[in-house]
Amino acid sequence: QAKSEGRNSYQYFNTDLTQQARERLSLEAQLRSGLQNGELSPYFQPQVDAASGQLIGFEALARWHHPEQGMISPARFIPLAEVTGLIHQLDLVIIRQAMLQFANWYTRGLNPGVLSVNLTVRHFQHQQFVTTLQQLMTDTGFRPEWLEIEVTESQLMTKPEAAIEVLRQIHQTGIRIALDDFGTGYSSLSYLKRLPITKLKIDQSFVRDLPHDEEDASITCAVIALADSLGLEIIAEGAETAEQVEFLLAHGCRQIQGYFYSRPLPAVAAEAFMLNDAGLIREA
Ligand code: C2E
Ligand code: MG
Ligand code: MG
Ligand code: MG
Repeated sequence: QAKSEGRNSYQYFNTDLTQQARERLSLEAQLRSGLQNGELSPYFQPQVDAASGQLIGFEALARWHHPEQGMISPARFIPLAEVTGLIHQLDLVIIRQAMLQFANWYTRGLNPGVLSVNLTVRHFQHQQFVTTLQQLMTDTGFRPEWLEIEVTESQLMTKPEAAIEVLRQIHQTGIRIALDDFGTGYSSLSYLKRLPITKLKIDQSFVRDLPHDEEDASITCAVIALADSLGLEIIAEGAETAEQVEFLLAHGCRQIQGYFYSRPLPAVAAEAFMLNDAGLIREA
């Protein structure tokens, strides 16, 4: 009896896997065509100097408006894009639209600050990516000093040597580089000093339970002190409450991004945020 049960559950398991694989293949095909049909676009989340309430810039975050399924979350399509290699195209689709939007804002005399974009570390394994970036800026009328690239600590630390030279060249053109999700990726501290980076971005998992969680509070303070001693800028992500903002500010982290100030916004709403006092609008 045990044996037949075993065989049954094996069959269910097998069917489930096939179903899952089928769904993944279908989502992959839809992402491929969605990228071609312009279904993906950037939303913009404000980054704010909490001490003055001034806008510093916006992080571009990919959103997929699926014609039937509606809005699909990056949690679902970014990992898929990573494993299928579609992330190359996706990143370029998002950065191009975000650059066009920023160039448009600057041309109209507005000041959106710095554009932060998320790029997979794989781009930096190819020498020609520097040229790709320059071409993008020329095409869109975008300037290097307006750009900051976010690369996640865990991705960069997996194979730092392969990326470091290209990142250095990018940095030399005046583009800033931030280490995203910092604190989750096991950086060697001596290595950190040699990376061509300008900013650490404290991961939101440490910010979520501030100020009450003592461990998170000490990690946050340690990361702020580390950035300070290495001469790096520091920004915290995922701040949702006034208490969190106060804690961060009191401990030397002025740059803050999180729902407390605003969720990621479509371009029109980001423009409205920019035109108002950054501290006044909190929700989309
Ligand atoms: P990330 O770069 O660390 O971006 C921050 C994420 O935290 C975003 O999730 C943002 O919406 C969310 N967030 C911001 N403030 C708060 C807050 O106060 N509370 C909470 N609970 N969440 C907050 P999102 O937009 O879902 O993006 C998830 C991740 O997907 C990003 O994490 C980034 O790693 C990746 N991603 C998004 N767009 C792109 C892209 O164009 N290219 C690449 N390569 N990755 C992207
Ligand atoms: Mg990011
Ligand atoms: Mg992050
Ligand atoms: Mg993240």
